[in-house]
Amino acid sequence: MDLRDTPAEAAFRQQVRSWLQSHLPAGWGTPAFREPEDPAAHVAFLKEWQRTLYEGGWAGLAWPRAYGGRELGLVENIIYYEEYARARAPNLIHLSVGPSLVGPTLIARGADWQKQRFLEPILRGEEVWCQGFSEPGAGSDLAALRTRGERQGDELVVTGQKIWTSFARYAEWCILIVRTDASGGKHHGLTFLLVDMSSPGIDIRPLREMTGESWFNEVFFDAVRVSVRNVVGEIDGGWDVVMTTLAHERGSSAQHARLAVEVDLLIDLAKRTPRGSGTAAQDPLVRQKLAQFATEVAILRMSAYRNASELEHSGVPGPEGSTLKLLWADLDQRVKATAIEILGPRGLVPKGDPLAVDDGYWAHELLWSRAASIYAGTSEIQKNIIAHRVLGLPR
Ligand SMILES: Cc1cc2nc3c(=O)[nH]c(=O)nc-3n(C[C@H](O)[C@H](O)[C@H](O)COP(=O)(O)OP(=O)(O)OC[C@H]3O[C@@H](n4cnc5c(N)ncnc54)[C@H](O)[C@@H]3O)c2cc1C
Repeated sequence: MDLRDTPAEAAFRQQVRSWLQSHLPAGWGTPAFREPEDPAAHVAFLKEWQRTLYEGGWAGLAWPRAYGGRELGLVENIIYYEEYARARAPNLIHLSVGPSLVGPTLIARGADWQKQRFLEPILRGEEVWCQGFSEPGAGSDLAALRTRGERQGDELVVTGQKIWTSFARYAEWCILIVRTDASGGKHHGLTFLLVDMSSPGIDIRPLREMTGESWFNEVFFDAVRVSVRNVVGEIDGGWDVVMTTLAHERGSSAQHARLAVEVDLLIDLAKRTPRGSGTAAQDPLVRQKLAQFATEVAILRMSAYRNASELEHSGVPGPEGSTLKLLWADLDQRVKATAIEILGPRGLVPKGDPLAVDDGYWAHELLWSRAASIYAGTSEIQKNIIAHRVLGLPR
């Protein structure tokens, strides 16, 4: 397998690079530029940036043209993400449920009217989505969920509680899984819904995370009425649709590109952090770790390419995405912990304090990286999937 760009791919890479250079928000990347601190203003800034990407032809690269996409191949997608990460362009995680989960799920499983209604507003950055899957008693064991959806005429009446719902406060819409039939096995009787977050009966309570931010929330549903038109797939047949969503959540092709940038930042940090009469980058133990990380990023990149090529053949992300998720979550945590080892106690000084290094970036990242082995399926669950579905080991 030749992993170098073909001339056409190299031209495409150059096109992405030049476009980003000339369209990033004015002042982006300079010390004076700050993304808005206020969360609502920050989401508005990201929506604006998403619209700029869409208008430039850089949203929904793999999506069908009929829904605003460009029908490009997976290689172009990966090149795009690599260049996006390299340019350190705005992190669009707040908007990510729409393009990375809802879009692919609707393209694969949605009704025609749902595709027409929801796909383009996602690409244009007009509508933010959240993911109402987890509940206090249902995380890894998602099918144990208990939020009810009771059929009343042409509506489902939803009552229950979701938890860890990222960005619910800024979301216009939610993909929600509810139990519509409790009489069969737990994977039967689930229904996948598209819920308008401004519906009466929804109460959102933010949760404060150890980083000090409040990304995720508890969301309470009290007799919320949802039209049956908003069911994706069949009533009681939602588990299949959930599987489509989760496969896309774990099969992301972008993480190696982000981690490559993080490792570069770490190398730069080591070079400018004094150690004895030199710098941390001259310490053989630090050097060994940096080389190890660079090697693992390369392995991750190859694995992402292999996954993409599988996906190109099958059309649906497979369980191999779990390998990527497991590798990058672990690597991300080790990279961030090493930054703190290099910096010593000062590395833990938070943003806003005059003693903070890089405005508290590494202190924040150390805490945030702990989430990587929990969200999108914990590392233990990824190992189970790899054992059963990739290696074929007995349960
Ligand atoms: C930053 C962040 C954002 C999130 N955003 C969302 C969101 O937007 N929407 C949403 O629905 N959810 C979201 N989640 C929730 C996430 O999906 C769950 O936290 C995750 O699925 C784990 O579920 P749990 O927290 O209930 O832990 P549990 O499932 O209770 O697991 C507890 C521990 O037991 C282990 N364990 C459980 N079952 C097994 C098993 N069979 N074999 C081996 N070990 C096992 C787990 O690995 C874990 O270590 C988010 C989580 C985080 C951290």
